[in-house]
Amino acid sequence: MAVPQHAKTEKPNLLGMNLAEMTTFFADMGEKPFRAKQVFRWLHQGGVDSFDAMTDLAKSLREKLPGVATITAPKLMTEQTSSDGTRKWLLDVGTGNGIEVVFIPEDDRGTLCVSSQVGCALDCTFCSTGKQGFNRNLTSAEIIGQLWWANKALAKDPAANRASERWSQDDESERSARSTSSGVASTASGRGSGSALPKRIVSNVVMMGMGEPLANFDNVTTAMDIMLDDHGYGLSRRRVTLSTSGIVPNLTRLKTRCPVALAVSLHAPNDKLRDVLVPINQKYPLAELLAAIRDYLEAAPRDFVTFEYVMLNSVNDSVQQAHELVALVGDLPCKFNLIPWNPFPEAPYQRSSNNAIHRFREILQAAGFVVTVRKTRGDDIDAACGQLAGQVVDKSNRSRIIKLSHAA
Ligand code: SAH
Ligand code: SF4
Repeated sequence: MAVPQHAKTEKPNLLGMNLAEMTTFFADMGEKPFRAKQVFRWLHQGGVDSFDAMTDLAKSLREKLPGVATITAPKLMTEQTSSDGTRKWLLDVGTGNGIEVVFIPEDDRGTLCVSSQVGCALDCTFCSTGKQGFNRNLTSAEIIGQLWWANKALAKDPAANRASERWSQDDESERSARSTSSGVASTASGRGSGSALPKRIVSNVVMMGMGEPLANFDNVTTAMDIMLDDHGYGLSRRRVTLSTSGIVPNLTRLKTRCPVALAVSLHAPNDKLRDVLVPINQKYPLAELLAAIRDYLEAAPRDFVTFEYVMLNSVNDSVQQAHELVALVGDLPCKFNLIPWNPFPEAPYQRSSNNAIHRFREILQAAGFVVTVRKTRGDDIDAACGQLAGQVVDKSNRSRIIKLSHAA
């Protein structure tokens, strides 16, 4: 059941509003649309969290706003930096729950891995987030708050600032390729309103942290609106990737609502094995999923899907399974990202050997596919994929069930 974002008596949190919502909010107060843009920019480009800091707003409005709205971001609990420059923040989202956000600097980009839920209800058998159970969906403010936080923290980080000189700050060709069909994501005034885009240390966002983004559709798409908005973070749709285990109806909705780059967690070449590894497959089997992906690609900013395939020793990494995978995807435009499985306590799996991964990769490449093997980053601070655990006060009772079954 969806958790209400705000109790009725609570003031709305401006941080989680996209520009259309904020424009309505200000219109309801009798204010002009440009006020919404001003505040939106202060929040997301200026990184401010107080109305007092919005110095170009009329004083009367600055005094009125705290009575009718808040600016509430998740609070920082801990931060860690890996020897390879990867950074991880644990953010407090209340009632004992915490979410993890990871920044990964690479040669040509700085990628932020963002969470969408506290835990995950989908219970994939190889995933530590899934094994922690599920508490609730994150609000749009808590989702965009991760990027808001990371930008603030990274702006003060000399190493991140130096690294970001390596990647392009403003790719006009990407901007002009942006769709006009995604609501406020393509604001009419674009950059013409006079503000320079902020320096972009986070150049890419991947919705690959804790949770299943398509199970929190409204809040995730609202947060992505803000990421894409030129008055917000100004990221192109190619630079925002949503990763899903395959909630087919919501993938179809995403196509019209906010078509960003797509990654799909495949992990198995047939329904029999995928039913076990990714249980949502029992509801939306491979044939339906692949058809929905093909359809999605018509609107996607990249003309291919990235299939993620976690490499599990003697489970899904054989020569025969590689050939089966080639046959399964057929002529669907795709790339593969093989992910060496990251262990966590009491998991019933082992990571595939380097030889097995190499062999698997060669078969896919020989069939003409582009294949990457994910480098394990931030290992020393547990910031690698699938190790994101945060703090989940489980409401699904799953973690209790797991403990009991281990005790039995
Ligand atoms: N729920 C979404 C996004 C979050 S998981 C999804 O499933 O796609 C991000 C990626 O990490 C997914 O491809 C997921 O399958 C993978 N993953 C989960 N646990 C992992 C582990 N222990 N080792 C390696 N990859 C893992
Ligand atoms: Fe949820 Fe994704 Fe983990 Fe599956 S892999 S349990 S969908 S977070």
